[in-house]
Amino acid sequence: MTARHGRFLGSGGGVVGRSGRRIADDLTEAGRGRRQGDSAVSRILFVEDEPRLLRAMRITLRARGHEVRVAADGRHALSEAAAVPPELVILDLGLPDMDGVEVITRLRSWTNAPIIVLSGRATGGDKIAALDAGADDYVTKPFSVDELLARMRAVTRRAAGPSSQPTVEIGDYLVDFGAKRVTARSGPPGDDRRATEDAAREAAGEAAAGERTAGEAAAGAPGGGEVHLTPTEWRVLEALARHPGRLVSQRELIRGVWGPGYPEDSSSARLYLNRLRRKLEPEPSRPRYLRTEPGLGYRFEP
Ligand code: CA
Repeated sequence: MTARHGRFLGSGGGVVGRSGRRIADDLTEAGRGRRQGDSAVSRILFVEDEPRLLRAMRITLRARGHEVRVAADGRHALSEAAAVPPELVILDLGLPDMDGVEVITRLRSWTNAPIIVLSGRATGGDKIAALDAGADDYVTKPFSVDELLARMRAVTRRAAGPSSQPTVEIGDYLVDFGAKRVTARSGPPGDDRRATEDAAREAAGEAAAGERTAGEAAAGAPGGGEVHLTPTEWRVLEALARHPGRLVSQRELIRGVWGPGYPEDSSSARLYLNRLRRKLEPEPSRPRYLRTEPGLGYRFEP
């Protein structure tokens, strides 16, 4: 989960515009504070046309041991990347000389390095275009340093290959992908809470099991401690949980689970996400682990 410290950057002359120096210091401090658990040192290409943001991020990323190269426009980004192939690219979509999506397309013609897009634009269309062109994730300006660092860790893990973690924790449950089993982690707390919720529903005159089917309720938490997932639910959950913290676009999820040629509308993905949330999330209507990025895709937040 991304801790948000309230240090925000960018957004066309917002916080960063007042004092580049102070914010650079803040960033360095933020960097020190969260060095633990950082991914391995990367060769990063940071492309951004706001000089103060560029400078501040160069300082903070270098303070964390990364090798950082910078470019202030698309042309320089491409020549810099060609000269020293980056292991990670962070790219502002709004560049003075060319569209960031064009930069992504050209980079993707020869490199698989993860690309994180910085976007100050309000519409989702640009983000979708960037993801379709091959970007791995995006961060909306103004962003917190912690959020960007979390996205960097997520895409770097993905680049390193599938997660070696055979299990993940979701709320009260331990999900074991190897054994294809979902079990209650500690039993009593979750069961008590769920029992309390069910009791509250009963008191309110609703069915105690809510929307769960009789079979699911029987296999579900109260008493049994094990939750049954269908094969498709397993595939959807795996597609998301394999890359903790990373955005999985709707197109990627649907192709991965149902194969190419399946209609890439959102209804199937949404249906299965809702089913998984009802089975696993502590509060299905306010998902904490299985998040929706409206119009873009889904994200498993560990
Ligand atoms: Ca810009």
